Amino acid sequence: MSYDKVEVPEDGEKVTVEDGELQVPGNPVIPIIHGDGIGQDVGPAAQQVLQKAAEATGRDPKWMRVYAGQSARDRYGEDVNLPDETVEAIREHRVAIKGPLTTPVGAGYRSLNVALRQTLDLYANVRPTYYLDGVPSPMKAPEEMDMVTFRENTEDVYAGIEWEAGTEEVEKVREFVEDEMDFDGVMHEGPIGLGLKPISEKGSKRLVREAIDYAIENDRDKVTLVHKGNIMKFTEGQFGTWGMEVADEEYPDDEVFAAPDSLWEEQDEVDIPEDAVMVEERLADAMLQWMQLRTDEFDVLAMPNLNGDYLSDAAGAQIGGLGIAPGANFGENRCLAEPVHGSAPKRAGQDMANPTALILSGRLLFEYLGWDDTGTLIRDAVEETISSGKVTYDLERQIEGAEKLGTSEYADEICETIEELA
Ligand code: NAD
Repeated sequence: MSYDKVEVPEDGEKVTVEDGELQVPGNPVIPIIHGDGIGQDVGPAAQQVLQKAAEATGRDPKWMRVYAGQSARDRYGEDVNLPDETVEAIREHRVAIKGPLTTPVGAGYRSLNVALRQTLDLYANVRPTYYLDGVPSPMKAPEEMDMVTFRENTEDVYAGIEWEAGTEEVEKVREFVEDEMDFDGVMHEGPIGLGLKPISEKGSKRLVREAIDYAIENDRDKVTLVHKGNIMKFTEGQFGTWGMEVADEEYPDDEVFAAPDSLWEEQDEVDIPEDAVMVEERLADAMLQWMQLRTDEFDVLAMPNLNGDYLSDAAGAQIGGLGIAPGANFGENRCLAEPVHGSAPKRAGQDMANPTALILSGRLLFEYLGWDDTGTLIRDAVEETISSGKVTYDLERQIEGAEKLGTSEYADEICETIEELA
C-alpha cells in the first residue's frame, strides 16, 4: 500500500506470516502511535528505550510514525480521528505499538481504542500484572501479584450497540422489547438510554482458548473465568459455560482439568491431575475481593470485555498503579501493544508522566516477535532504575528519598542502565 501522509522507513522489512507462522526480520517496520495527552511525552521516551534495548541485543527495528486522535486531526483535518492509513499500516505490518488516546465522555466520537481493536479483530487484550522491585504499592505483599488477564476485546457492552435517550430509535427499541418480546421487568417511564450486550460462542471460546494455551505454554497452574453469570445468565453465564466447554472438550484431562461446580464449591478436595492446568469459574464481584485477599491463588484470568477492563485496572493498582501497567492486544498473527493507562490530560506535555507502562508494553511486543532476550533486558533495566530511586513524579512522591526525574531524563537513565547491563 502507498501512504500519503506517513513516512515509510525505507531500510526496514515487513513482519510476514508463512504457513501460519510469524516471520520476523532483524529490522522489522513497527508502526507507532505516540498518543494523545501524555502520549506526546511517553511515546518518544518509550521509543528511545525500546530502540536502545533492541540494538543492545542485535536488532534494529524501524519505527513508522502513524497518527490517531489529536495528531491525526492536526495532520489529516479536523474530522479525521482515525485515518485509514493508520489502520492499514497496522494491518499490513502485523505488529504495532500505541500510546493512549483520549475518548470524549457522553458525546463526540466513539473510542478510537475500541475501534482499532474491533476493526483489526484484536480479540484478546492481555495484561501481565507483576511486581517490579522498588515500586511503592498500597498492598502489604505486592510481590504476590503475578497475574495475566485475558480480556475479550470485540464484544459485550463495548460493541457500541446503543441508542441515545430522546431519539426515535431508542423508543422503537423500547417498544420492540416491551410489546414484541413481552418484557415485563423494570424500564422506567420517560427518557431512557438503551444498549445491547452481545456475547458470542465464537468470541468467548477463542478468548478462553487463548488464555488456556498461554497457561500451558507458560507453566501456569490455573485459568479463572471471571463473569457475573448469576445475574446476566444468558450473556455472562453463557461465557462461563462456553469457556468450561473449551476446557472440558478441547484438551486432554491430564493437560487441562475443568473444575466441576467451581462457582459454588471449594476445590481443595478435588483430585486434579498433576501438572494439569485447572480451569475454574468465579463471580466478578467476589473476584475483586479475592484478588486482594488471596492474591497468590490466582494466575491467569479470562473475562468478558467489561469485567476485564475493571479487573485489570484493579490488579494494576495492587502493584503500584497505572503508570507501570503494560498491555497488548492480540488477534490472528497480530499484536498491538498499548499501556493500560489513558492520556491523563492534566499531566500532558509537561515531560513528567511515567513512560514505564508503554516501555513494558513494548517488551510484550518484542517477546511476541520472539525477542525474549530484549524483553528481559528491558525489564531488568527498568527494575534497576526504579530500585536506584530514580523515578518520575508519580512514584517519587511515594518513595522516601527518591529523586524525581522528568519523562525524558528517566528514559535516558534507563538507556544508561541498558548499556551497563548489556
Ligand atoms: P488515565 O489513565 O489517563 O489517568 C488516570 C490518572 O492516573 C491520571 O490522572 C494520573 O494521575 C495517573 N496516570 C495515568 N497514567 C500515568 C502515567 N503514565 N504516569 C503518571 N501518572 C499516570 O485515566 P482517565 O483520566 O480515566 O482517562 C483520561 C483519558 O484517557 C480519557 O479520555 C480516556 O478515555 C482515555 N483512556 C484511554 C485509554 C487507551 O488509550 N487505551 C485507556 C484508558 C483511558
